Amino acid sequence: MTAACIALGGNLGDPRRQVLDAVDALARLPATRLLRRSRLYRTPPWGVLEQPPFVNAAALLETGLAPHALLDALLAIEQRAGRVRAERNGPRTLDLDLLHMDGVQLDDARLTLPHPRIAERAFVLLPLNDIAPDLVLPGQGRVADLLAAVDTQGCAPLAD
Ligand code: ADP
Ligand code: MG
Repeated sequence: MTAACIALGGNLGDPRRQVLDAVDALARLPATRLLRRSRLYRTPPWGVLEQPPFVNAAALLETGLAPHALLDALLAIEQRAGRVRAERNGPRTLDLDLLHMDGVQLDDARLTLPHPRIAERAFVLLPLNDIAPDLVLPGQGRVADLLAAVDTQGCAPLAD
C-alpha cells in the first residue's frame, strides 16, 4: 500500500458538491482507503482570470493501485462529473490531479510525479497543508515551507 495525495478542484456547476462527491468516489476506489480530507477552500481563478472562483480540496489515500492505474481512475471520475476539456487553465466541473505518491518519481507522456507545479500554487498548497504539512516533495520542498512562500490572498476556507 502506498500513500497518495490528490488535489481536487472545480468552478462550474456546483463545485462544492462535485468536490465532495469526488472525495466519496476516491474512497470507493478498489484497494484504496481514504485517510484524510482537507477543508474546502474558495480560491481565485488562476491563469484565465475571467471565470468563476474555484473550490479546492485535497485528499490523502492509501492505495494498492499503481500510479498509472490511479491516474486512469482519477480521469474516469472527472469524466463521470461531466468534465469537458477545453482551454488550458479554463473553467471545469472537476479537476483531479495526482500530486504525490510515496517513493514514486516519474516523468512520462501521461504522468509526472510529483506533480511539477505544486510549489507555485496556493490553491494546491493550502489544502495539501491540511493533510500533509510535513510531506517533502522531491525537487520542490516541504509542504508547510512551500505554503509560507506563496501568496494566499483571496483564498479562504469554506464552511463544510
Ligand atoms: P490540468 O490539470 O493541468 O489543468 P488536465 O486536467 O487537462 O490539465 O490534465 C492534462 C493531463 O495531464 C492529463 O490527461 C494527464 O495525463 C497529465 N498529467 C501529467 N501528470 C499528471 C499528474 N501528476 N496528475 C494528473 N494529471 C497529470
Ligand atoms: Mg488535471
